[in-house]
Amino acid sequence: MPELPEITVIAGQMDKEITGKRIADIEAKQPKNLNMPVPEFVKTVKGKIVNNVSSKGKWIFIKLNPKYYMLINRGMNADLLYFTSNQKLSTKYQFKLTFSDKTGFTIQFQWFGYIHLVPEKDLSKHKLTAHLGVSSTDEKFTLEHFKKLLANRKARIKNFLLNQKNIAGIGNVYIQDILFKAKLHPNRKISTLSEKEITNLYNAIQNILNRSIQLGGLAYEKDFYGKKGKLTINEFLVGYKTGKPCPTCKAPITKIKIGSTSSYICQKCQPLE
Ligand SMILES: [Zn+2]
Repeated sequence: MPELPEITVIAGQMDKEITGKRIADIEAKQPKNLNMPVPEFVKTVKGKIVNNVSSKGKWIFIKLNPKYYMLINRGMNADLLYFTSNQKLSTKYQFKLTFSDKTGFTIQFQWFGYIHLVPEKDLSKHKLTAHLGVSSTDEKFTLEHFKKLLANRKARIKNFLLNQKNIAGIGNVYIQDILFKAKLHPNRKISTLSEKEITNLYNAIQNILNRSIQLGGLAYEKDFYGKKGKLTINEFLVGYKTGKPCPTCKAPITKIKIGSTSSYICQKCQPLE
């Protein structure tokens, strides 16, 4: 499942590649991905020009001129691929957007995802994106901001970090190494965290996610050009490494179930109390 690093990488590539282009044609084979009937979607978007592309959490925001946003969420996973004017395409896509210069992109969802069109003035009313927290890569995500988020919270730290309303973009892949690096058990109560632990956690979030962005994201996720990222399971510290030695103390990494998600931890380095 794509998380913040993968979305950041692809949104950056899209911004460079499609900004300034005029939308000429849309093909939507799976109407349930859209938030309006296909003919209305096509009519609304045709002729509009891409102003810029950004991301928030797991959502891609394509700002259109005049005054619309196309919001894309790739769901569990989807190939979102650029094509050039003379490129032969696989026909397996569910959505195809072509620009006036005959380049464009296709989306092939593996499970389900969204392509929503929202007028700029109604963006704050778009239910699925309006309540997203600040992305950890956003410049607004400062240590002060993080401390304020955590103040007076009763939740356990893993649940809190995975909740997209608090911080947008962290999922069950990167959370493992973030908590390990911060030496925190996933079930630690936020109210028990010291000032130093909070600072360490903030630094761990930045460190783990930025490193992945630099590597182009996960090795099983494709970017806008169909290239896979360079972050393989071998690069993880504890994530998905049940039974392997902890990189710090060599104790075996264990897998524990917390709610509906799995956690990979070193019991010695990440004690509960
Ligand atoms: Zn350890």
